[in-house]
Amino acid sequence: MSKKYDPATEVQRLEQFGEFGGVNPSITDSATYSFLQENTMIDAFQGEAEGCFLYSRHWNPSNKYLSDALAKMEGTESAWVTASGMAAITTAILQICNAGDHIITSVTTYGGTYAFLKNYVKKFNIDVTFVNISDHESIRKAIQPNTKVIYTESMTNPMLQISDIPAISEIAHVHDIKVLVDNTFTPMVLSPFKLGADIVVYSMTKFINGKNDCVAGAICASAEFINDISNVNDGTAMLLGPVLDPLRSSSILKNMGTLHIRMVQHGKNAMYLANKFKEIGLRFNYPGMTEHPEHELMNSMMNVGFGYSGIIAIDLETAEKATPFMELMQEKGVGYHAVSLGYFKTLFSNSGRSTSSEVPVEIQKEMGLSPGLVRFSVGLDHDIERTSELIKSCLDELGYL
Ligand code: PLP
Repeated sequence: MSKKYDPATEVQRLEQFGEFGGVNPSITDSATYSFLQENTMIDAFQGEAEGCFLYSRHWNPSNKYLSDALAKMEGTESAWVTASGMAAITTAILQICNAGDHIITSVTTYGGTYAFLKNYVKKFNIDVTFVNISDHESIRKAIQPNTKVIYTESMTNPMLQISDIPAISEIAHVHDIKVLVDNTFTPMVLSPFKLGADIVVYSMTKFINGKNDCVAGAICASAEFINDISNVNDGTAMLLGPVLDPLRSSSILKNMGTLHIRMVQHGKNAMYLANKFKEIGLRFNYPGMTEHPEHELMNSMMNVGFGYSGIIAIDLETAEKATPFMELMQEKGVGYHAVSLGYFKTLFSNSGRSTSSEVPVEIQKEMGLSPGLVRFSVGLDHDIERTSELIKSCLDELGYL
C-alpha cells in the first residue's frame, strides 16, 4: 500500500502563501492574538473558533504551516510541532498513558527515549516492558489489560533493526493499543501511518531540518489526537508547553522543501560506502544490503525512490579500537566526531558511549550492541569515492585491515 504513497509530491503540492503573495508563508512572531469580539475569544478557548489563533503555546500560524506540511508528508489529518524530538515523544506518550498504565517498547531505541521509559515514567506508576521488536511473540506475550502503547522506531537507533509496522499494528489494534512510531531515521523513506501506525513522532533536529542549527520535533496523528494534546483543559502539549518557536518553524519548513532530494543523496552515499565496506571485509550494518536480516521487510514497506536512508554502522568490536579511528577520521576530514545525524556533513560516534550510553552495558550486550560500534550518518558528500578512500586509509593506518 505504501508503495503508492509519494510523500515528496504530497509536500510539493501544498500551496502556502505569505502576506502580499510571498512564496514563503509569512512569519507570525506574536505570542498573543487580538479578537474583535469577546464571544469569538470564548469560542477559541472551547476549541471552537476555526481559523482563529489564541496564544502561541496553543497554536500559531507559522507552526500551523509547518504542521500542515508534515501532515501531508505522513498522510495524517494533522500534526503539531515541538521544541525537540524528546518533547514530541514524551508529549505523545504522556497524552495516551495515565498513571497505572503499561507500555511495550522496543529495547533498542534512542538512549533518551530509553531513559524516559526506564527511569522517568515510573514516577507516574507507568510500567514498561522492553522487548525485541522483531520478536512478535514477545510483543504478544507482553500485552496486559492496561497496555496503552506499543512504541518503536521504524529503523532503530543504533541497531538499524527494521520494525514490521503492519504486523505490529495488527497485533496492537486487536487490543485497542496505540502504535507510536519514531520515524526520525527514515522520513520520506517510510510512512509509518500509511503502514498502520497511529502516531508518528520525529526529531526534526535530524534529517527533516538537515542543517544542525536547532533542535525540534513533531507529532503527526489524527485531528482528534492533535486536538486532544492542545486542549486547554487537559492537553499535554498545551499544559506542559513544549511548543516550537515560530521563527524556527519557518526555517524548518523551507528546509523541508529539499528533504526528498537530500534523502536520496544520503541513501546513495550510504549505499556506496556499504558496498565498499563489503569489498574490504568490514563488519557493518546497513538495511540497504541484501545481507541485512530485514532487508526484504524494508523493501516491502518503503516508498519508491528515496533509498535506504543515510545511517550505517561499522563494528570494530572494542571501544579501544573505535576511539582512534574516529579521531583519525575527523583529522583527515571524513566528517565530524559528533552525535546526531541527518546533517550535510558526515557525522560519526561510538553509540555505546554516546547516544546509547543511557542504556546499561549489560542491556547493550543483550541487544547485541557492540562496544566498538561506530555509527555513521553519511553526509551529502559530492565525492563519496574520496570519502570512502579516506575512511579506508584511516583503517589502514591503524592496522585494522
Ligand atoms: N529519536 C531519535 C531516533 C533520535 O536519534 C533522537 C536524538 O538523537 C531523538 C529522538 C531525540 O531528539 P531531540 O534531540 O531532537 O530531542
